[in-house]
Amino acid sequence: MLVDSHCHLDFPDFDEERDAVVERARAAGVLRMVTISTRLASFDRIRALLETYDDVYGSVGTHPHNADEEPDVTAGDLIALAEHPKVVGIGEAGLDYFYDNASREGQARGLRRHIEAARKTGLPLIIHARDADRDMAAILEEETQKGAFPAVLHCFSSGRALAETGIRLGHYVSFSGILTFKKSEELRAIARDLPADRLLVETDAPYLAPTPFRGKRNEPAYVAHTAAVLAECRGVSPEEIGETTSENFFRLFSKVTRP
Ligand SMILES: [Zn+2]
Ligand SMILES: [Zn+2]
Repeated sequence: MLVDSHCHLDFPDFDEERDAVVERARAAGVLRMVTISTRLASFDRIRALLETYDDVYGSVGTHPHNADEEPDVTAGDLIALAEHPKVVGIGEAGLDYFYDNASREGQARGLRRHIEAARKTGLPLIIHARDADRDMAAILEEETQKGAFPAVLHCFSSGRALAETGIRLGHYVSFSGILTFKKSEELRAIARDLPADRLLVETDAPYLAPTPFRGKRNEPAYVAHTAAVLAECRGVSPEEIGETTSENFFRLFSKVTRP
């Protein structure tokens, strides 16, 4: 059994064959998928998927790329949409200094509102962090002082120090197809060393297809390839990593029903 803890099934990349994509995931043993919100303005698309596919769950949030488009989204707005029984997380929100598609102030403000919603609902925050290790660690530390909240550092590709900060604060770390890329030795070393009970896997589909599909459109079925590499770098069987990451997923995303 596997879980894809982060994908974007609402994206137009899947319009032609969304049913087939979900079916292939099931056939590959991917029994739960979480389709992640990137804008409240398009939340209806997420909701429609949750109401179409039994095994697809969702989140609500504004991606840091879109933070300046939705500057007025409040924690209360997020909390209200999270009342849907299949909305199981808050986000994705965070800091992306690689693209800088939104102002850094806007990204930080948005992140803090999402943290507030995660703290108040108890739903995990899905954190997007790229090239922003230091500011991200500082915000997570500071916000934890105000009250703990559950969270996952999704598509982890930051430095070891941020992973360790997240673990210390009680958070989880999720690995995507990046883990399978040839040059990701340092990332595999981090994945090897983290506590087993904090690991998750994801695709971030349609992006970041794992080897051997690198460069192609990604889909939830391919999470098996990332899980296999995670198993290899930890010296355990793919079955064991599937079991471990699924257990971790159900502990963190506690609103998701088990198969
Ligand atoms: Zn992301
Ligand atoms: Zn994403």
